[in-house]
Amino acid sequence: MAERIVLGGALLAAADAELQMEWGVRIVDGTIADVGPNEALVGTRRGIETIDARDLLLVPGFVNAHMHSYGILAHGIPLAEPPAGFYPFLAEFWWPRVEDRLDAAMVEAAFRLACARMIRSGVTTVCDVLEAPRAAPGILDVEARVAEETGIRAVLSLEASERHGDAAARAALFENAGFAATHGTGRVTGMMSLHTSFSCSEALVREGKALAVESGVRIHLHLSESDYEPSYTLERYGVRPAIWYDRLGFWDSSVLASQGVALDAEEIAVLAKRRVRLAHMPASNCEVGGGVAPVPEMLEAGIRPGLGTDGYINDPFEVMRAAFLIPKGVRRDARAMPARTVLAMATAWGADAVGVNAGLLAPGRRADVVGVRLDLDTPLTPENVAEQLVLFRSGTDVALTVVDGRVLFRDRGLLTVDLEAARREAHAQARRLWTRGIR
Ligand SMILES: [Zn+2]
Repeated sequence: MAERIVLGGALLAAADAELQMEWGVRIVDGTIADVGPNEALVGTRRGIETIDARDLLLVPGFVNAHMHSYGILAHGIPLAEPPAGFYPFLAEFWWPRVEDRLDAAMVEAAFRLACARMIRSGVTTVCDVLEAPRAAPGILDVEARVAEETGIRAVLSLEASERHGDAAARAALFENAGFAATHGTGRVTGMMSLHTSFSCSEALVREGKALAVESGVRIHLHLSESDYEPSYTLERYGVRPAIWYDRLGFWDSSVLASQGVALDAEEIAVLAKRRVRLAHMPASNCEVGGGVAPVPEMLEAGIRPGLGTDGYINDPFEVMRAAFLIPKGVRRDARAMPARTVLAMATAWGADAVGVNAGLLAPGRRADVVGVRLDLDTPLTPENVAEQLVLFRSGTDVALTVVDGRVLFRDRGLLTVDLEAARREAHAQARRLWTRGIR
């Protein structure tokens, strides 16, 4: 039995929990066994490995509920001019210049750097969605090896779409099913994945759903990242996307829909009724000019979204700030988004959205623990703890990252991955991506 104690300076067990001073966690075999005062955890125990994090605020590890790690290679790629809209962004830039050019070496290098940076900034779980039609098959195993090596918790999938034809779409579905069959439990698991209603036919959607049910895994899709998808389904099927999927019997609690930007009230009600899980990406929604997701309306309907970086700005604190600030500005109401709600999205709700037993510091949950530096400019109080974290800390203030009870990052050093070597390799692969022709 592997047992260790993390002594904290302060501890916030969940977004809605009370701040506790001088509390820590006891971990047995990668699972949280106790959460309580440091003194009580140590008690009469002698010889147990103790991690002294009394200069840190312990919080649940952050969950990146929607990520495209290969997107890192496209950061700063020069464009003659910005894409003219969401669909041109995909059709003229993202598909031909990024996704269709990816090979296994690029995917591996990008994911290793992404894992290193995420661990460094307190992300303990990532739901990584790969779209690399020319890098399959077997590409999920490449990502899984990187996740195993770096120690991050990962939910992996390869997105299916018919833009390279029927055979490629089905190959992606079967890659997911095969991967899920060999990664059903443990730190690295799989998921089924579809792109959108404008890149997947009804037949493919039905087939993906049936395979997900058969494999006993969740199914992910992108939903209305801009007005483009609603216009498409209205013209083709006469209804908006969430209603179209509902008519196919697609929605239930095993579905993770990412984005959810251009949703109307009827669609939000349907998603809430079917208990569909959502991932919200406030920063990347701005990047592509997609709009602002109706998150306050989702919350009012009972939806509990997770938070994702989408492979764009990958510091979880930056994304929390976007989730916190944008609704206030749009609604012209400072009450529109409480910091504790944002913190819940980044932890417990995200864990729930992607289907991992983490996101809370509570007995029985996997021991994914993050320590954030307590050297704040102003005092930490029970009332301001969420604001202090969401607004006044950054990824660089994370000083401890533990996944499954294993220390992956401590003070300034990553223990499982060489950040500088990973950065150099990703840089070289980005150079290849930017200059290579389409095969
Ligand atoms: Zn996405």
